[in-house]
Amino acid sequence: MSAAGWLRSARQVRSPNVDERPPGEAVTLAVVHAISLPPEEFDGDAVERFFTNCLDCNAHPYFAQLRELHVSAHLFIRRDGEVVQFAPFAARAWHAGVSRWRGRERCNDFSVGIELEGSDLQPFTDVQYQRLAQCLAELVTRLPIADIAAHADIAPGRKTDPGPHFDWARLQRELAAHLGQARAAGLLAARRACA
Ligand SMILES: [Zn+2]
Repeated sequence: MSAAGWLRSARQVRSPNVDERPPGEAVTLAVVHAISLPPEEFDGDAVERFFTNCLDCNAHPYFAQLRELHVSAHLFIRRDGEVVQFAPFAARAWHAGVSRWRGRERCNDFSVGIELEGSDLQPFTDVQYQRLAQCLAELVTRLPIADIAAHADIAPGRKTDPGPHFDWARLQRELAAHLGQARAAGLLAARRACA
């Protein structure tokens, strides 16, 4: 990771939908999401365009509902394992929306957002788990991240991602290969307790 908070392994695409975290705010949470645009379609550049306000909202009927939205994430991990980074980790990306974790609201303030290219209806790819674990392992050694949670954990009733096909036990195993069993289990303990 560079000093400015960019992963060296990621392709940089700067999003304008980013601002500063509150002064002195520490990054203590990583949020795992899933997205595909249009839903269930994994080719093309619609997510990248959406996060950079370049999506042609007339290009697909589903896109009409995205017209007024301004969102982003720090990372987007594609089906083939490519990692795209939209904002440095020191910046606040706009991924969580109305949210709460450990009694604190506005999770964007204190979290990193990682989107997997996927949906509630299909399994993720092997290389996505590998890349996600690599990214998280690097993040937790550089930032005071204590927990990894789902978007559905921090916005229950409103969000379901990364969905029922996301294999948390597998993520824990992949993380353990980088960080050891105890650390990997600890990072996922709070979401297990709330699930
Ligand atoms: Zn999400």
